[in-house]
Amino acid sequence: MKIYSVFLGLTLGLLVCGGLYWYGFTGKTPPAGTYDWKRVEGSKNIIPVAIIGSGPAGLSAALYTSRAHLHTVVFQGPQAGGQLMSTSEVENWPGMGKKQGPEIIKAVQEQAQHFGAVLVNESIKKVDFSVWPYQLVTSEDSQVHALSVIISTGAFPERLKDVPGEVEHWGKGVTACAICDAAFFKDKDVVVVGGGDSAAEQALQLTAYARHITLLVRGDKMRASVAMQDRLKKFDYIKIRYNTSITEIEGDGSRVTGIKLKTAQGSDHMPIDGVFLAIGHKPNTELFKGQIAFTPLGYIAHSCRTQETSQEGVFAAGDVSDERYRQAAVASGDGVKAALDAERFLQRIGFDEIFAKKIERKLYDPVVATNLIEITAIESMDQFKSVVLESKVPVIIDFYTKFCSSCLQIMPYIQAIGTQLKDKLVCVKVDIEKMAELKDRYRVTTVPYFVVIKDGLVVGRYNDVMTKREFFDFASRFITE
Ligand SMILES: Cc1cc2nc3c(=O)[nH]c(=O)nc-3n(C[C@H](O)[C@H](O)[C@H](O)COP(=O)(O)OP(=O)(O)OC[C@H]3O[C@@H](n4cnc5c(N)ncnc54)[C@H](O)[C@@H]3O)c2cc1C
Repeated sequence: MKIYSVFLGLTLGLLVCGGLYWYGFTGKTPPAGTYDWKRVEGSKNIIPVAIIGSGPAGLSAALYTSRAHLHTVVFQGPQAGGQLMSTSEVENWPGMGKKQGPEIIKAVQEQAQHFGAVLVNESIKKVDFSVWPYQLVTSEDSQVHALSVIISTGAFPERLKDVPGEVEHWGKGVTACAICDAAFFKDKDVVVVGGGDSAAEQALQLTAYARHITLLVRGDKMRASVAMQDRLKKFDYIKIRYNTSITEIEGDGSRVTGIKLKTAQGSDHMPIDGVFLAIGHKPNTELFKGQIAFTPLGYIAHSCRTQETSQEGVFAAGDVSDERYRQAAVASGDGVKAALDAERFLQRIGFDEIFAKKIERKLYDPVVATNLIEITAIESMDQFKSVVLESKVPVIIDFYTKFCSSCLQIMPYIQAIGTQLKDKLVCVKVDIEKMAELKDRYRVTTVPYFVVIKDGLVVGRYNDVMTKREFFDFASRFITE
């Protein structure tokens, strides 16, 4: 029986791997005009290794390629540092004991930068893998030419499907990031939707704030690890309801007031202040549609033994290509493999130190602004009155929390634009945990949240992450020459 099981396992493994190989890699395409070095020499903005995404996968890859003396640029994307930036305790990152997610990321960032990796606060908005060097367009509209590419764009949280009230209350009581938004739910009643580790993690993050936390689990048991379930049991104000799903989210458009439920017994209603979604992730692959092969579930297909995708010279690592494990250490390991694969690929096609020297002056070197003006932190109502209400020019208030990774990621943009538009506009920041009075006064329901004040009055609002260019366009609207 045991031998039979092993045989069956091996056969299935081979079939799956073989199927994947067939699916993505038959006729693996070398790009058009393959490896035309003259063309590279004639280009500018060249990157030997371009990494799209800056979670554990992208950063680990960057550490390896930059240590191998390959000029490496990491496009950090909308969430610099990736999902771990919104994770409180991480206990399973090898060799580190119990750590905060952002601490782990900071350590890897510094290690990669130590070897020369360049981390850029930009996203990639377009790729063309049909020509080599591969063409990438950044959110700042820079055209770059990559000799090899590592894709590590991770995954993003799934939203509820066809549940009335979810879309209109997104960011107004419905969220997928407890660590960002928990502070808005002090002494409030909330539900967390889901039964896996993410749901348990979000519930635990809420314990410091919420009065009652109810986990809504669609099935009759949780999928979360035993260790996580044990941690939940320590809190008597965390309850779990099985065989329960949300059918409607109620509210007045500015905040959530209740939810309708489908239960094993029929239906139910709960008055509630917040809904935290933890129902899985979708691989972040939109950008690569039509450019490389995906698995049937929409993840980037890669070879069983390496991180090679269906496109020569393009590699995938981490959650974006991992249907099964989705763990930081696994993503990191994938990143290391992708880096070694990229290094081997570049060697194979003839990239060497002599050529590296030739293109030294043509490497992509994003301009990093200098002499930036600090963004003033508002820490008292008197300061608010003098700096904001009495300002002669429009003021953009950036409401944030120090745990919100996307808030921290856009700060450099705000600082750069604030410097660029100085004398015409002022940018200030408000930590909602320190200045709850301002949070309530301006009805701030999520972070990041921008409020624009002119002559003491609100003239604009925006409550989502923006690229640098979007923030510039937003800010420019309020300037009167
Ligand atoms: C609440 C929570 C708790 C977790 N706890 C743990 C834990 O305790 N232990 C553990 O091992 N794992 C944990 N995980 C899982 C772990 O965080 C992920 O497996 C890991 O972060 C995946 O790494 P990644 O590099 O593949 O992708 P991600 O971390 O998802 O990073 C993706 C990156 O891609 C970037 N990006 C996206 N689009 C673009 C674009 N167009 N251009 C440029 N960049 C782009 C993003 O900005 C981001 O930097 C947790 C996850 C969550 C959500």
